[in-house]
Amino acid sequence: MMETPLIMRHLFEYSQIYYPQKEIVTRTPDGEFRYTYRDFGERTRRLSSALAKLGVERGDRVGTFAWNHHRHLEAYFAIPCMGAVLHTINIRLSPEHITYIVNHAEDKVLLVDEGLLPLLEPLADQLQSVKAFIIMGEGGVQLDGEDAAGSGAGEGGAGGKGRIGAGGSESGASDRARNTPLQPAYSYEALLTEGDPAFSYPDDLEENAPMGMCYTSATTGNPKGVVYSHRGIYLHTMATGLANTMALSESDVIMPIVPMFHANAWGLPFAAVWFGAKMVLPGPAPSPSALLSLIAKEGVTVAAGVPTVWLGLLQEVETHPEQKLALRTVLCGGSAAPPALIQAYEQHGIPFQHAYGMTETSPLATFARLQTYQTALSPEEQLSIRATQGMLVPGLEVRVVKDDEDDEDVAWDGREMGELLLRGPWIADGYYNDERSQDAFRDGWLHTGDVATIDEEGFVRLVDRTKDLVKSGGEWISSVDLENALMAHPAVFEAAVVGVPHPKWDERPLAFVVFKPGQSAAKEELLNSLRSRFAKWWIPDDILIIDEIPKTSVGKFMKRTLREEYQGHYAG
Ligand code: ADP
Repeated sequence: MMETPLIMRHLFEYSQIYYPQKEIVTRTPDGEFRYTYRDFGERTRRLSSALAKLGVERGDRVGTFAWNHHRHLEAYFAIPCMGAVLHTINIRLSPEHITYIVNHAEDKVLLVDEGLLPLLEPLADQLQSVKAFIIMGEGGVQLDGEDAAGSGAGEGGAGGKGRIGAGGSESGASDRARNTPLQPAYSYEALLTEGDPAFSYPDDLEENAPMGMCYTSATTGNPKGVVYSHRGIYLHTMATGLANTMALSESDVIMPIVPMFHANAWGLPFAAVWFGAKMVLPGPAPSPSALLSLIAKEGVTVAAGVPTVWLGLLQEVETHPEQKLALRTVLCGGSAAPPALIQAYEQHGIPFQHAYGMTETSPLATFARLQTYQTALSPEEQLSIRATQGMLVPGLEVRVVKDDEDDEDVAWDGREMGELLLRGPWIADGYYNDERSQDAFRDGWLHTGDVATIDEEGFVRLVDRTKDLVKSGGEWISSVDLENALMAHPAVFEAAVVGVPHPKWDERPLAFVVFKPGQSAAKEELLNSLRSRFAKWWIPDDILIIDEIPKTSVGKFMKRTLREEYQGHYAG
């Protein structure tokens, strides 16, 4: 067979040939912006040429600090297709972590949303590697054409073209952008106006060359960088199109609610472009009501987000039964999908699918889809299978190994627990320049840090993250199982369970519950709902009613905060 390289350029060019008329829609503060894949393609090439003029070369990291919108999508292709590395930065990280990852990745250029400038500006002095900031906003279409601002970012830099601030006179830029301390600053739109719409992409990129990177949170210390190769993302994208997984195709209208800085928005932008799906991008800080209107208005068929997004949207769905939705699936991952949530959506006629992955796994690794014969099982049995993390995505390999003895696999009986290990062409093999790599990457396998069972048919069920398991009197308790049961109570909106130190049992579970607006239940009633399902020693010693469960930067329950804050709760 021919050894043609699996590189991002092919996805982009295929889409330009076959789907030039398909639409990309972005929600903007004052309405929406829509254009075609043809326009997208032209602007993407213009962006690549502008980056090249700023001195971006193969292998250079170009960071994005942005919400989900069409400019970010242009960057998703402009950067890798030219051979540079797309580094998506999580806008919700602490200033210290943002500084760390920009410096650690040595980003040469940063593309920043104008509305997010206040988050980066205090760090201006510390972002040492950055030679140019490109500000993404509506302003800056007109250029004064003067080389007013001195030199460009690198050799052969773009000079003053499109440059704003620091004495520059780029007339279309907003005052906000003009006064930024992030220098040298360029206007995205002005650079594109000057860019080359026929910029051609190199055809000699290696498939194993890096095309992207994303930092993932660590239990302690700085985030860890994962580098994606062209080959890995190419194969991962193909896998998202398989009928046995997400079945993404041209007939879909795809909306990633999951941020484009969270594990490549789970690969949806790459798949949408390659397969020619209409794409809907929800823009800055979308509220549940904005999301529901977009889904209805644009005929979204596939939307993806973490469980907290779906919990929030459910209330909208319930209060707006008049909205006619074309959703063929909502994809849920990032944390365990509570069975009650799956059920609630399906009662509204919206199919709900559960998937599992990590930043390190590009991210799709397992997908819960019933096998044909399982559709004859009782509704309860079906629900319990669909609430598992599911079957391995074709192309990967899985093991579940006993504690600390990596050579011994657990029985595939759906009961014995162990650590989940993964291997395959879109699984990372280390962290970028990081000594912590050896903890997770050993013997050719990614050690996920997730505790799971696996059954005879290979369905994986996550019991917990290792760090979230509650160890009581030497026995393990799954915080996820308790949370799912609490969230099945009709008055409960969200629930989290953590292990806190206990003088006698080492650790005991402590539950936190947030009620739905206007609803409540007695603690005893909640505990009783658990007693009917779990052994006595699993039942939390206490339940605290709070207003909100703290969330991580990607919308997962921040259990560490709860653990720290309440560590003395059972101290006596
Ligand atoms: P972070 O570590 O910052 O949360 P990731 O999104 O990479 O970043 O997290 C991956 C982890 O999220 C997995 O190791 C697992 O613990 C959890 N996770 C992802 N998907 C699911 C799921 N469907 N069910 C349960 N846990 C999940």
